[in-house]
Amino acid sequence: MDIKNLDHSYIAQTYGRYDAVLTEGTDAGFAGDGKAYIDFGSGIAVNTFGANDAGWIEAVCAQAHKLSHTSNYFYTEPQSKLAEALCTRTGLKRVFFSNSGAEANECAIKVARKYSHDKYGESRATIVTLQGSFHGRTVTTLSATGQDVFHTDFMPFTPGFVHVPPNDIAALESALTADVCALMLEPVQGEGGVITLDADYLAAAQKLCADRDILLVLDEVQTGNGRTGTLYAFQQLGIMPDVMSTAKGLAGGLPLGATLMGEKVEETLGKGKHGSTFGGNPICCAAANYVLERLDDAFLGEVRDKAAYFREKLLAMPGVTAVSGLGLMIGISLKAGDAHDAALRCLTRGLIVLTAKDKVRLLPPLNVSRADMDAGLAILGEVIAEVVAEAEAQKETEQSQT
Ligand SMILES: *Cc1c(COP(=O)(O)O)cnc(C)c1O
Repeated sequence: MDIKNLDHSYIAQTYGRYDAVLTEGTDAGFAGDGKAYIDFGSGIAVNTFGANDAGWIEAVCAQAHKLSHTSNYFYTEPQSKLAEALCTRTGLKRVFFSNSGAEANECAIKVARKYSHDKYGESRATIVTLQGSFHGRTVTTLSATGQDVFHTDFMPFTPGFVHVPPNDIAALESALTADVCALMLEPVQGEGGVITLDADYLAAAQKLCADRDILLVLDEVQTGNGRTGTLYAFQQLGIMPDVMSTAKGLAGGLPLGATLMGEKVEETLGKGKHGSTFGGNPICCAAANYVLERLDDAFLGEVRDKAAYFREKLLAMPGVTAVSGLGLMIGISLKAGDAHDAALRCLTRGLIVLTAKDKVRLLPPLNVSRADMDAGLAILGEVIAEVVAEAEAQKETEQSQT
């Protein structure tokens, strides 16, 4: 079967795919086309324990044998249990389950607007988000996303979003006007280039929001579920959200979104105000219960150790000028050359890495082994040296010609 040609003929060509057909998960990552890959991408922060984790597979299969789906007009054990775990481990009060990050953010936006509408009436519907943010691909979450490249083709977008530059307290203070119901931000901007927000900025944001009864909404779709070395990133940043969304790694490889609501908004969404056919599906929730149980303090400590190891090794590479991010959410700035070119060369040599804007981006599985870290870093080191050397040689030729 010519998989690539079928794709080109029958699938909407929205993705710039890498030239590889992946067929199965392996302990180090993936296999396909007769090749094995070490995975430093986790399917974009989704495969929390890699693509072949025995415990995760068992949890999913056991639930599939019991009950795979029922409507949300019935109670199920995996969903109730997961909601309890999420609330007790975050201090937030209630959960709404959906199927993706964009949906989790849609719910957060609905909560924010309804909270304000219930309390203050109309004309307090504006949501402030940050430039360079990414909040999803639905028409409303594209509006929320603070990148002009996403604000084309699909007009009219949902009104009521204002974007301010990250880490600029003065700009934030003047944007949080009387018509604003919420500030939504990612603790570390992922798609926007692995940019960490300053601790004093986050503290100021929390205070400004609290003083003005503006909801602080954290988009932890990517930073959540152990990725940054704590269960959720806010837990190491000294802030407490009113609403938090998460998805990606939550179910470790199955689609599940969650919107967590704090005290102020725990009663905001009543009967009939929101819903989802698949949201909180028993198999996805059983998978997430397994993920959360495994992400205990000891495991999260290992994530932080691995993160420190990655940073140390990457900063020792001569072609690397800076390493950004938090935990195992890593952005690598190159001295010269193109990040996407580096990613392509890594793939040819059996290593999957991602990019974010002009950075090489790593989101390895949280249980990545020492051997796979070393083998992957060796490939990455060679590729970065090569890409930087070629780019510098080219620059020299160009200069000598002028
Ligand atoms: C990936 C991502 C989303 C969108 O998630 P989908 O599951 O693709 O809808 C939203 N916010 C952030 C921060 C993300 O990284």
